[in-house]
Amino acid sequence: MSAPSNTSPSSPHVMPTYGRLPIALSHGQGCRVWDTQGKGYLDALGGIAVNTLGHGHPRLVSALCDQVGKLIHTSNYYHIPLQEQLAAKLVQLSGMSNVFFCSTGLEANEAALKLARKFGHNKGIDRPEIVVYEKAFHGRSIATLSATGNPKVQAGFEPLLEGFIRVPINNIAALEKATAGNPNVVAVFFEAIQGEGGVNPMDADYLKQVRQLCDQRDWLLMIDEVQCGMGRTGKWFAHQWASITPDVMPLAKGLGSGVPVGAVVAGPKAANIFGAGNHGTTFGGNPLAMRAGVETIRIMEEDGLLEHAARVGEHLRAALQRELGSHQGVKDIRGKGLMLGVELTVPCSELMARAVEAGLLISVTAETVIRLVPPLILSKAEADEVVAILAPLVRALLAEKGVT
Ligand SMILES: *Cc1c(COP(=O)(O)O)cnc(C)c1O
Repeated sequence: MSAPSNTSPSSPHVMPTYGRLPIALSHGQGCRVWDTQGKGYLDALGGIAVNTLGHGHPRLVSALCDQVGKLIHTSNYYHIPLQEQLAAKLVQLSGMSNVFFCSTGLEANEAALKLARKFGHNKGIDRPEIVVYEKAFHGRSIATLSATGNPKVQAGFEPLLEGFIRVPINNIAALEKATAGNPNVVAVFFEAIQGEGGVNPMDADYLKQVRQLCDQRDWLLMIDEVQCGMGRTGKWFAHQWASITPDVMPLAKGLGSGVPVGAVVAGPKAANIFGAGNHGTTFGGNPLAMRAGVETIRIMEEDGLLEHAARVGEHLRAALQRELGSHQGVKDIRGKGLMLGVELTVPCSELMARAVEAGLLISVTAETVIRLVPPLILSKAEADEVVAILAPLVRALLAEKGVT
């Protein structure tokens, strides 16, 4: 979330919403990308947990080319068989019951928030309230930035949307206290592993306790799997490590391997809240996006990428631990599978630019956390290379800042 340092001036025509690093990428293959000057980079960011299959995956490329030639877009006025196909697959993988398709993460979350409000109204609650979390990130629309727990994302866009109750993660007593005696609560909404907030996992015990509380109080359990879902942690969805099932699950990022695809998956408790005319989108669920989702999942299954992500993630984490774990300036190394964070004791956003100079793409989030969310096809040798480039940069930065 923090703007990288050493950014170049923006184009005169594109709004300066991002501090951009001084390179432009032109093509990629696997976990490697090349810039317009011909310099190569190892990609440990995957377009922020988006490029599930890396770059130029031959089976994805041929499927997408085939689809572009047949049909890119029609309209949700008509049946779209590929929607049925991808929905059936997501239902099977999640154990939930039906799906609404959109194009981005914030749209999936927006749909979840609308589901929660309508769920409340259907029960006679006129002013429904939704529990959200400190350090959460859910997107940048007015509703999703209101649900987000980062004042920097919200500043300048007030008034925020009302109807949110904010609590800290992994603290069931705080959740019970914040909602005690409040008849307007309709849902609890969080990321199974906070991404932008600094790679902060929800404990399995906490997830089970929240599931139980939602059942007791008739609240919707809504888990934002936009970043941590789609196989990244070694299960299809990160909450599955706790053997629970949510009532509502927004997805996006990795679902289309780079083609914009978002989805909100609903369980039985939320499956019949939206009727005709309650929600919609022009692009959502179009044939090209659906084909990208179908083929991404097919290739992940054929190539065993869940097991692979778990195995290589463990290898990467062990290598990070070995090279950096005992350093004074390294506070924590955490995450699951190929969603890892290295938290330093000092701000480190400079590392993004320094890594680019050294031929590595990473990000820094929440000011002090190096985030690694590479394509799920990363090999063990590539994981070793990530650490071989990154560790000396981290040690040098810490030394400069007087942390030895
Ligand atoms: C990225 C992200 C979003 C927003 O997705 P967009 O596609 O940028 O709108 C929402 N929730 C989480 C957890 C995310 O990581």
